Amino acid sequence: MNIYNTLSNRKEEFKPITQGKVKMYVCGPTVYNYFHIGNARPLIFFDVVKNFFEYLGNEVTFVRNITDIDDKLIQRSIEENIPVSEIAAKYTKAFFEDCRALEISPADHHPKATEYINDMIDLIKELVEKNIAYEVNGDVYFSVSDFPGYGKLSGKKIDDLKAGARVEANKQKKHPADFTLWKKAKSGEPNWSSPWGEGRPGWHTECVVMSRKLLGKTFDIHGGGIDLIFPHHENEIAQAEASGNKNLANYWMHNGYLNIEGEKMSKSLNNFFTARDILKKYDAESIRFFFLSKHYRSPIDFNESIIIESKQAVKNFYNILKESDYLSIKDNKFEYSDVHLKYKDEFISAMNNDFNTAKAISVLFDITKTYNKTKDPIYIHLLIELGNVLGFFMNIEEKLNNEISDISNELIDLIINYRISFKKEKNWKMADAIRNDLKKIGVVLKDTPEGTEWSIEK
Ligand SMILES: [Zn+2]
Repeated sequence: MNIYNTLSNRKEEFKPITQGKVKMYVCGPTVYNYFHIGNARPLIFFDVVKNFFEYLGNEVTFVRNITDIDDKLIQRSIEENIPVSEIAAKYTKAFFEDCRALEISPADHHPKATEYINDMIDLIKELVEKNIAYEVNGDVYFSVSDFPGYGKLSGKKIDDLKAGARVEANKQKKHPADFTLWKKAKSGEPNWSSPWGEGRPGWHTECVVMSRKLLGKTFDIHGGGIDLIFPHHENEIAQAEASGNKNLANYWMHNGYLNIEGEKMSKSLNNFFTARDILKKYDAESIRFFFLSKHYRSPIDFNESIIIESKQAVKNFYNILKESDYLSIKDNKFEYSDVHLKYKDEFISAMNNDFNTAKAISVLFDITKTYNKTKDPIYIHLLIELGNVLGFFMNIEEKLNNEISDISNELIDLIINYRISFKKEKNWKMADAIRNDLKKIGVVLKDTPEGTEWSIEK
């Protein structure tokens, strides 16, 4: 398998630290708000990465943290006038609800930053003792000039960072790029005791500590959005290596940006959508199809026509599953032969090539084409098996059953519309016959000024 490693800027063969085991950490949400549709991309993509490793027979340990203490939470707590802990609890709950709605499986661990404060203090102490961090008035900073490897992930140079720094740079810092490890608490802010006084850890320290604590000093994959390369991941690497790691993670994976109709998503442009907003309009699988139809490292544009195409593509898959009467063939015994395995191999080699989900989806299309020609149910099994790796067709039985009830609802609406047409033509005989016949099967109509309502007679 080849993975594009941001650290080396090229595709590398993936070699796990322990054969058959994959340890991965993906930066999770800062729980001060509902997450937006751009945040859904790494959630969905790394869900697929985990599935694929497992499909290949690996044992995966997946950690996605929760940042429950941060400036943004404090800001929000002031705005909403409720304690930081309540803000964190509210949006952590919302995060899990939205993940479930998007059919993203939970990680193995969801560490909360506030549960690891002592370990964070230990790391900061170690860096201060090694003279790579320094305290000024209760704040502790990491000294980038004292760490020779600074910039190795992002390619940034310390001198350029100095030149580019804003004029009003913090005067306490030795170098403008020095970053905060420990932040002194202002009055009323949540705080923990430390050798430098009451305060809280910086975000970059949180992730190093939680990842190493749960996955070991060096693990296989560290992932997140491209916007996290600098400064967040650069600063994680600096702390880990300054405290004795050779590598924090061997492979650094980053997904590309999401734009909305060609523009960067922002509240000021009025094109800011939460995943919740989008889920009101589109189902989880259409959203997933949309993201996976593009390579994860490419930027992706969210626009109405592409998402409608995605919805149609998912619908086509479901039409085939319904037509094949999957629920009646699901327990059939079958064995793949070479002609079937050819598709499986194509799918796996697409995914082995730095998770080319777009190509993998095209293999699913090829399978449906062959099914349409042969009507051999084995292709339906293959479609579901491979589709599951991408997170499609999960809870398929429930969905197909629901689809059937959706059709029933649509059929009743259709019949009611015919009755309305008869009434318009003053064909009272037909209108009454429809009403009476529906009543016989337990569907009761009620004509109101707003139109005809119906209910099921209990
Ligand atoms: Zn992080």
